[in-house]
Amino acid sequence: MLKREKRLERKIARERIDKLFQMMEEMKNKDYELARRYVELARRIAMKYRIKLPKEYKLKFCKKCLYPYKEGKFRVRIAKSRVIITCLNCGYTKRVPIRPIRKKIDERDKKRKVKILPQRVSQRC
Ligand SMILES: [Zn+2]
Repeated sequence: MLKREKRLERKIARERIDKLFQMMEEMKNKDYELARRYVELARRIAMKYRIKLPKEYKLKFCKKCLYPYKEGKFRVRIAKSRVIITCLNCGYTKRVPIRPIRKKIDERDKKRKVKILPQRVSQRC
């Protein structure tokens, strides 16, 4: 059996997700149903190849009904130091903290880098 090139697969998947979101942006004011379908496909690809959708993409559609946010279809309010985005299709509210706690994640990243950095032990002759 051929060995799967997972790294390459993920790279292609990422490119496809980018393309789908790009198409979604162009389509959302022309064909809303089709734009929703693009979001659905992009999300499925992300799940299949276990890619995290970038934050900016996540803010572009409703997590529940998958319709992209467009003029007149969502409401943004600020309350208790978070941004509250309400989808006017299904009523789902997304809450985004204004000051996300990033400390823990940064520390984890640092540890990871240290692990990768040490150079390989030079080969014996
Ligand atoms: Zn919704």
